[in-house]
Amino acid sequence: MELSFEFESAWKQAEDKNYLKDMMSYADGYKDFISKAKTERIAVKELLKMAKDNGYVSLEEKMKAGNISAGDKVYSINRDKGIAMFVIGEKSLEEGMRIVGGHIDSPRLDLKQNPLYEDTDMSYLKTHYYGGIRKYQWTTIPLAIHGVAFLSDGSRVDICIGEDESDPVFCVTDLLPHLASKQNAKTLGDGVEGEALNILIGSQPLEGEDKESVKKNILKLLNEKYNIVERDFLCAEIEVVPAGDARDLGLDRSMLIGYGQDDRVCSYAAVQAILSLGKEVPKYTAVALCVDKEEVGSQGNTGMQSRFFEDVVAELIALQGDYSDLKIRRSMSNTKVLSADVAAGYDPNYADVYEKRNSAILGHGLVVNKYTGAKGKSGCNDANAEFLAELRKVFDDNDVVWQTAELGKVDAGGGGTIAFILANANAEVVDCGVGVLSMHSPYEVTSKVDIYEAFKGYKAFMKSAF
Ligand code: MN
Ligand code: MN
Repeated sequence: MELSFEFESAWKQAEDKNYLKDMMSYADGYKDFISKAKTERIAVKELLKMAKDNGYVSLEEKMKAGNISAGDKVYSINRDKGIAMFVIGEKSLEEGMRIVGGHIDSPRLDLKQNPLYEDTDMSYLKTHYYGGIRKYQWTTIPLAIHGVAFLSDGSRVDICIGEDESDPVFCVTDLLPHLASKQNAKTLGDGVEGEALNILIGSQPLEGEDKESVKKNILKLLNEKYNIVERDFLCAEIEVVPAGDARDLGLDRSMLIGYGQDDRVCSYAAVQAILSLGKEVPKYTAVALCVDKEEVGSQGNTGMQSRFFEDVVAELIALQGDYSDLKIRRSMSNTKVLSADVAAGYDPNYADVYEKRNSAILGHGLVVNKYTGAKGKSGCNDANAEFLAELRKVFDDNDVVWQTAELGKVDAGGGGTIAFILANANAEVVDCGVGVLSMHSPYEVTSKVDIYEAFKGYKAFMKSAF
């Protein structure tokens, strides 16, 4: 009998060459995904492609057919910003689901509705940051622009500049050290103000124009490429993100560095897990759920607090026959959920904010956060021990390397995820994801072995019959 224990490195498994090969190839697929899926809209587009390629059909199509049966693969898209994928289980939906749910929005700079201006023969775009960013990190790095705009006739234009090697990029400038003594004396949080996060977008005047000629030249170029005029920004949704692809990190290529890993790392794993079920019919309906707006509180019709998900489940229950409200309630209360979100990885450079015994260690596998919240667990989702005990068996039976953690030292800070929302709907929910260094920065860091263990853990959970 082992009386004591220590968390182990997940890298031990990589001594098996087959494991190493599978893990590295999973990491390559994920790297391609985050290099493309820089926004929630693009993430949905990419995930939808994967779903369709794997035989998933839309909820609307199923509704036309009028029924669903075990093994059916169904997806539903929420306003191009969220996706829910289902494999219908042997048991009825009323008996509960196995949901792995993450978010596909990430901290970034959004353009304001009236963004374009000229100052001192340079043209800029005003931004309003989205989510929790450390503003100083967003200066002096190459940025790309993604989004949608609508012309006066209502037609839609998709915008993407800065990702192709041949594209120009953009940036927020910063002070030279020679003139930064006043700024250096400020706190790190106040050094760069929100209203200073203006994107430099051009400097060449339009020929034959005297007034605002640089801005006019930008408008001319935008019009040539996208057919838009300045007024079209009023009803556009444009996001500014770090330009370029995710990369291998470390001489041993054991890690990944890239934008938006919170939380596309867990969302991608959830989708890969459900796709990997293949022809297998799980006992309970398996769900991969990717939502928007987590970084700003999950409100609105594309966030987890929207009734979207419950509505989709209601439609599926109706397709199983004899619809009733009671069945939805029973379905939710019989459901088990992994709230698939990232954890704060222990950083030895900033050891004083962590409590090492209870921190997510990079390379030590899938992270289970029993509770979240701040101070005295305020605002937390606190998973029930009974659920953790069931989960432990699922992970251990499937050789998933996992660890427990919380976010930093007691009273050092805190945070939350979508977990509490599904728990409020009476499901069993625990936070369970991947440790990340430099979380919410333009270039977040993960360990390849952790992202693969997350995939393995999510898959085992979706197949579980407890
Ligand atoms: Mn997150
Ligand atoms: Mn986050």
